[in-house]
Amino acid sequence: MIDIVDGVQLLRGTPNYLVNVYLVDDILIDAGTKPATRGLLRQLKGRNIKAHALTHVHPDHQGASHPICEAHGIPLWCSEAEIAAMESGDMTGQIPRNTITRLQNVFWTGHAHPVDKGLVEGDSVAGFTVISTPGHSPGHLAFWRESDRVLIAGDVLNNIDFITLQERLSLPPDIFTIDAQENMRSAQKLADLNPRVVCFGHGKPITDGARFVDFVQQLAETAPTSGNS
Ligand SMILES: [Zn+2]
Repeated sequence: MIDIVDGVQLLRGTPNYLVNVYLVDDILIDAGTKPATRGLLRQLKGRNIKAHALTHVHPDHQGASHPICEAHGIPLWCSEAEIAAMESGDMTGQIPRNTITRLQNVFWTGHAHPVDKGLVEGDSVAGFTVISTPGHSPGHLAFWRESDRVLIAGDVLNNIDFITLQERLSLPPDIFTIDAQENMRSAQKLADLNPRVVCFGHGKPITDGARFVDFVQQLAETAPTSGNS
């Protein structure tokens, strides 16, 4: 595991930082794709995990949720607005329908799993406050720790170029985003928190939060709704 900040670790991936899974104290946030299951279970073996929470119910975040919850006997928490999708495994309302998301759905989407708690803004998860950030998915959530201004932003922004795999701040591609305009408003909401450290669903965490804030500001001034697809 890769230490990010106090209480926040990043599980190793193939390659690292492409699809991120975080261990925040004893709570696992997100669970990668279905093919990542074995690697994630191996890294979590022997760890005392108390619960598993999701930033959003997409195939690259809930892919291993079911086997991890089963193996560790832990409850699953996700956005109240996305409980039905998690419990049915039906991504129809979660992500736009196109060739790429159809393929993702076949190869990556994890098994349906019952949700023990629906999260809403203001709830607390491992010392972080739940922030409602819809747009990329209908009930997308971010997690915010005010005391040291650490933000787990999910896919409101990415910090990777999915073609070159180089570090690059960007909006999530439109082909994966259900409402780009609403996601932009959520990005502005997160920038207004003025984070110091930002952890993404995809890409390397940044410790220079001003870069995140400046990037969102530039987007708002230039192309408020465009993605990079
Ligand atoms: Zn994602």
